[in-house]
Amino acid sequence: MKKLNEKKEKILIVDFGSQYTQLIARRIREMEVYCEIVPLIDVEKIKNGTEPVKGIILSGGPASVYEENVPTVDKAIFDLGLPILGICYGMQLITHLNGGKVEKADSREFGKAILEVINGENPLFKEIKKTSSIWMSHNDHITELPEGFEIIAQTDSSIAAITNNNGIYALQFHPEVVHSECGTEIIANFVFNICKCERNWKITSFIEEKTKAIKEIVGDEHVLLALSGGVDSSVAAVLINNAIGKQLTCMFVDTGLLRKDEGKKVLEYYKEHFNLNIVFVDAKDRFLNKLKGIDEPEAKRKIIGHEFIEVFNEEIRKLKGQEGAKFLAQGTIYPDVIESQSIKGPSHTIKSHHNVGGLPEDLKFELLEPLKELFKDEVRKVGHELGLPDTIINRHPFPGPGLGIRVIGEVTPEKVRILQEADDIFINALMEEGLYGKVDQAFVTLLPVKTVGVMGDQRTYEYVAAIRSVNTIDFMTATWSKLPYEFLGDVANKIINNVNGINRIVYDISSKPAATIEWE
Ligand code: GLN
Repeated sequence: MKKLNEKKEKILIVDFGSQYTQLIARRIREMEVYCEIVPLIDVEKIKNGTEPVKGIILSGGPASVYEENVPTVDKAIFDLGLPILGICYGMQLITHLNGGKVEKADSREFGKAILEVINGENPLFKEIKKTSSIWMSHNDHITELPEGFEIIAQTDSSIAAITNNNGIYALQFHPEVVHSECGTEIIANFVFNICKCERNWKITSFIEEKTKAIKEIVGDEHVLLALSGGVDSSVAAVLINNAIGKQLTCMFVDTGLLRKDEGKKVLEYYKEHFNLNIVFVDAKDRFLNKLKGIDEPEAKRKIIGHEFIEVFNEEIRKLKGQEGAKFLAQGTIYPDVIESQSIKGPSHTIKSHHNVGGLPEDLKFELLEPLKELFKDEVRKVGHELGLPDTIINRHPFPGPGLGIRVIGEVTPEKVRILQEADDIFINALMEEGLYGKVDQAFVTLLPVKTVGVMGDQRTYEYVAAIRSVNTIDFMTATWSKLPYEFLGDVANKIINNVNGINRIVYDISSKPAATIEWE
């Protein structure tokens, strides 16, 4: 039987915990070559052909190879006859496992350095300038080469590249970061000249392949999908809908904690443009009732997450009775997968996450996750190709618990209404001024604080709202957006003049860390 995530020719990247591992994968995918990040290598699978691997990259990482209990690879990978490229920790590991010596250096080398290519004949350095800037980040260095290896590039203070001319290459610097001037060309040399990969990872062929695979896998069965209106679930819905049409049922739950008119808009949009089969569940009262009297953020998140699963299960039961759906589709994307398999172990829970998890035993589904191999920007490209509009594709992330955690403290229907109005004004203003695409996440938060104001000679005593807008690459760290003062002033005026219940606006100028992006 056909599998949804077909095994295709690829480069494997072993992750030793470097902050740049995902960048290596991005660079290679940008070259239209498929690659995967893995915590370890299954040598047997490669040998017996279940994994068609063209080359292996060993990433950087914070550990030191000469210490105890540090991440490593099966030494048998060096006998596979496959090209291998070690980067930083990866280089040190290659050295260590092949009998060379790695020691702590007297001084760290961090940041810019100048690469001097010694052997320009080497395929890794084909058409690479003799000297160029590179990016270093290490404390350990090679003090003894493993047998059979030679130095093919250096900096003024360290060995920058080695090879054994038997397909094993290693770099002390990071070619995957933009500060390494010829980094992309060096990776391309490895991928094309050495591993002999073909450019066959294309968005259009991805769509064709997945559509065909979904058809074959689903057959005459039915599929259910929880549509949130966000990018990932929207793209998954449209992709699956293209493949199997009416055999897909999308469920949209209105929790009452969505943006202004969001439920209505989503419903109309998808029905009209994609002819999606959507079941709309109005669960506003249920959520708001459950949240009565609760003001602690984690308690609110848990209640909302739990209630969502309850509603989802009940509705699925109803549908399952009618249609007997066999598959549950989800918009899981690659970073979610990497996160759950990283050798670094599960990262510390700062906030509990809201997900369609915890399905009871009798509601057994097979999972259908067609976007599982894609990075966010690739998901966007698929969406674009499938005809989804920019307003959906480039949407800022919206938290699972929605406005439930943007009304600080106790959530009431009145406060949700006030927040919806204010948020709508802010987001529309960003769009009108062409600023929405220049910031990465923007929203309004309603504070549980009332202050005194004056309007038309009348004393007012109303809520304070905070405007928040951040710029970030990966949402792990973020800085506040330097929005123009004029713009901020106009937005504040508009909100105060139009939203009954708010008489004061503040702008949040904290970064993450130490603050988080959301307030709760
Ligand atoms: N821990 C190793 C060092 O300090 C590797 C660092 C890295 O991979 N960036 O040299």
